[in-house]
Amino acid sequence: MFNTAKRALISNQKSVLSQARFKSSLPLKVPITLPNGVTYEQPTGLFINNEFVYPQQKKTLETISPSTEELITEVYQGSAEDVDIAVEAADDAFKNSGWATGDPMLRTRALAKLADLYEEHSETLAHIESLDNGKCISDARGDVKLAASCLRSAAGWADKISGELLETGDTHLNYTRREPIGVCGQIVAWNFPLLLLTWKLGPAAATGNTMVFKSAEATPLSALYVAQLSKEAGFPPGVINVVTGLGTTVGNRITEHPKISKISFTGSTAVGKHIMRSAAESLKKVTLELGGKSPNIVFNDADIPRTVQNIINGIFYNTGEVCCAGSRLYIQDGIYDDLMEALLKEVEGIKIGDPFDPSTRMGAQNSKAQFDKILKYIDIGKKEGAELVAGGERAGSKGFFVKPTIFAGVTEDMQVVQDEIFGPVVTVSKFSDVAQVIEWANDSNYGLAAGIHSNDVNNVLKVANSLKAGTVWCNTYNDFNASVPFGGYKQSGFGREMGKESLDSYTQTKAVRIALH
Ligand code: NAD
Repeated sequence: MFNTAKRALISNQKSVLSQARFKSSLPLKVPITLPNGVTYEQPTGLFINNEFVYPQQKKTLETISPSTEELITEVYQGSAEDVDIAVEAADDAFKNSGWATGDPMLRTRALAKLADLYEEHSETLAHIESLDNGKCISDARGDVKLAASCLRSAAGWADKISGELLETGDTHLNYTRREPIGVCGQIVAWNFPLLLLTWKLGPAAATGNTMVFKSAEATPLSALYVAQLSKEAGFPPGVINVVTGLGTTVGNRITEHPKISKISFTGSTAVGKHIMRSAAESLKKVTLELGGKSPNIVFNDADIPRTVQNIINGIFYNTGEVCCAGSRLYIQDGIYDDLMEALLKEVEGIKIGDPFDPSTRMGAQNSKAQFDKILKYIDIGKKEGAELVAGGERAGSKGFFVKPTIFAGVTEDMQVVQDEIFGPVVTVSKFSDVAQVIEWANDSNYGLAAGIHSNDVNNVLKVANSLKAGTVWCNTYNDFNASVPFGGYKQSGFGREMGKESLDSYTQTKAVRIALH
């Protein structure tokens, strides 16, 4: 994998990415010049015990810029053996560093400092994220901002995780403690590399756990950069470990390692099921954040301009690569024509292209595989008889860009309505009856999120209560806050990220009952 000489010297559309050539060995840090002209040192090694190290076998992973299809850099690829080394480091830190048992203010300070560092490095982090994932820079800036506030929120929780004193009469003293679980394995997808890492790191660290984290194959850069920041923030060695690599090697070993007590996974429902089966062998605690096919419902009394923005944000934000994307749009018959006209007009104006242009609204899809999958689904939609009213093809001839795509006239049994496409493709159905739309909305294996657009508060509350989804957004969409829990119903998984609930799955309750003489 060191044959990068074959590749042309990298030059993206702005010709500002610098690229080290690795003739014999990839250094543990490489300089990368970002499209904003800033050159930074990108770590490439595995992060174990607060140091970047070479893996046991010197294999690498290439990371490609989705907007140029060119190589950004390589990073080292771990193996099962490297996971074992990282787990030993995490286990030692859990048992011996005082992280789990010492003054919780240590955890508060480290998390708050890491939040400060996210903010200090926000432009670099946003550019790395945009470069590696393909998302537009404004979306990436939003990710960094939310990630920093999640860390700050977790920092505030660290010294407030306590049990209860339980009264059972004068004969006994009873209390509970909420203790950390131990070494946590964390595996994530590529659509929000920094945010998904932070959603797991914050509550795991606040509650005194240690972790072995694996980023997605296609997007390893921000996790390695954060690993470096975590050392500066004062996390003791072994608390945060990052092993980049493949799902089938690194991911598998994390899932089956006997010293890992909990797995937190974000990714596809298919891999989530596999992970749960494999974790069952050692009865690890498991939380799963999986796929979605979320309904977005517009009622006759909705405000058209505002709803159009919410629909667009619901499906085209982050190029549609959002687990909770509002990908099934249901519009009531009285507003259908006016809303569709306004929506199509607005969609025509969406700027797609160079992710680093501040006016770009949609960047590139993350990978060739994802790009191909989306185009395949567009083809399926056409063959199924859905009416293509916008987009339906790639944008440009270089980079993984797909035009914002709308299929109208769909029926609920179509594959494009039932399957998660994970791209900028929305289906539109017309409805008249509230009971009917609730039935359609809930007719999915998934249950991650839903949207309601209406000015009638009674209608909003009634429908919100009827929807089988972990999040219901009303007159807004893809609207996240560090204090508000996020997670799935049904096959969208279980466990929650963010909010107080995110701490629950990282602690276990011990009851102490003392007989009094
Ligand atoms: P994926 O399941 O293919 O991969 C996710 C991660 O799992 C990657 O790091 C991968 O390397 C790893 N992995 C793959 N095989 C593995 C194995 N056998 N053992 C252990 N780990 C393994 O998912 P993806 O295609 O990268 O991501 C897209 C999916 O993620 C979509 O379905 C999306 O909805 C979902 N997602 C969900 C949320 C959420 O919060 N619910 C957030 C983001 C993405």
